[in-house]
Amino acid sequence: MQATKLVFERNEYIFRQGDPPTCAYLLEKGMIEIFAEAGEETILISRLGPGDLLGEMAVLDDAPRTASARAAEQCVLLEIDRTQLNQRLEQSDPIVRGLLLGQLQRYRSLLKRLNNNAPVEINKKKSNIDATDFDQAAATKIRLESSLRIALETQQLQVFYQPIFNIAQKKIAGYEALVRWEHPQRGPVSPGEFIALAEETSLIVPVGYYVLNLACETISEIAKQGVNDLPFIAVNISARQLAESDMVGALVELSSKHVIPIECIKFEITESLAINYEHVEDFIARCHARGILVALDDFGTGYSNLGHLHRLQFDTVKLDQSFIRRMVEDARSAAIVRATVQMVGDLGADMVAEGVESESQLNALAALKCKYAQGWLIGKAEDRRTALKNHI
Ligand code: C2E
Ligand code: CA
Ligand code: CA
Repeated sequence: MQATKLVFERNEYIFRQGDPPTCAYLLEKGMIEIFAEAGEETILISRLGPGDLLGEMAVLDDAPRTASARAAEQCVLLEIDRTQLNQRLEQSDPIVRGLLLGQLQRYRSLLKRLNNNAPVEINKKKSNIDATDFDQAAATKIRLESSLRIALETQQLQVFYQPIFNIAQKKIAGYEALVRWEHPQRGPVSPGEFIALAEETSLIVPVGYYVLNLACETISEIAKQGVNDLPFIAVNISARQLAESDMVGALVELSSKHVIPIECIKFEITESLAINYEHVEDFIARCHARGILVALDDFGTGYSNLGHLHRLQFDTVKLDQSFIRRMVEDARSAAIVRATVQMVGDLGADMVAEGVESESQLNALAALKCKYAQGWLIGKAEDRRTALKNHI
């Protein structure tokens, strides 16, 4: 659809104070003066040139125009439909929306004081940005984020360990480190909620170091019991950590500090976003140079796809639990599991079947010669002391 372009002659009004907020404009050519009328007086607020936006404020908060706009010379404007702006707003981060609305309110009250006219209220109920919803969503997020910072500093975060079972050898070969947060007021917060939040900011970086350090400590504790055949611990790493932290360097340091074999730690790449192949390639190469193995997590769902296996040298593939869950009853899921075990083997990698909850699933995986199984049948994630009982 062609965007509507409008031409205004010199001194013509684009909108006037008090008009309803029909649309916003992008000024393509010319100059516009924005001014407020305070009794007899006219206060020039700003002069706009090509590329500037105008009229967007009233559209955002669905309030009448608090200032007038007049062409200072012939102008060409592009009309911006209010739904176009609102759709973008709805998709934006609630904190950013909250900040925007806060600024708008402050600006409005300043204008109100300037022109001292009839009070201009933001129409909270009808507003396109629902002020109350946004305030709450933004405040909840900000609160959660700052308590996560405190949780890190005060060690409220715990790491639980879920066993990974070697099917043919019938023994626990390793564990996956899964972070837990016991919030003092809210109780347990699921990693699904706070890891996503930590990934939005760079908080995932210290969270990652924290988990890695505890995982190394755990291996060291097991080693001190005189266990010869040490288990591995798989530590999750997300895209942001790959870009912003040096987990390999950290592991090199930690393994010498805790005196543990470096290969006892594996990394699992969990992708919530499209993968950056250069980053991952570089990461895997650095891991392999040190003898550290790398797994592709949640294979078969979301962004974890065949392209990754095609281009990247993963040592382990973790097939997502959604396939395992249905493999006994559903022939299609069974076919996918069978084909994946075969393909992963042909690539020279190991496979972990995730979410194994029943004996029949485990038996089916054993028949397919899948190497590892992980899931509630083998064991849920438990705190270090309880989980270690398996190994000591
Ligand atoms: P994930 O890496 O795929 O971890 C497996 C999740 O599946 C865990 O949930 C685990 O408790 C759950 N699970 C394991 N076995 C079963 C089963 O048999 N049945 C069912 N229904 N669920 C099972 P959890 O602990 O809530 O973790 C959720 C996600 O949070 C993880 O998914 C991982 O992506 C992320 N995560 C956890 N810890 C960390 C961490 O330290 N760093 C990063 N970057 N992400 C983490
Ligand atoms: Ca994982
Ligand atoms: Ca997984």
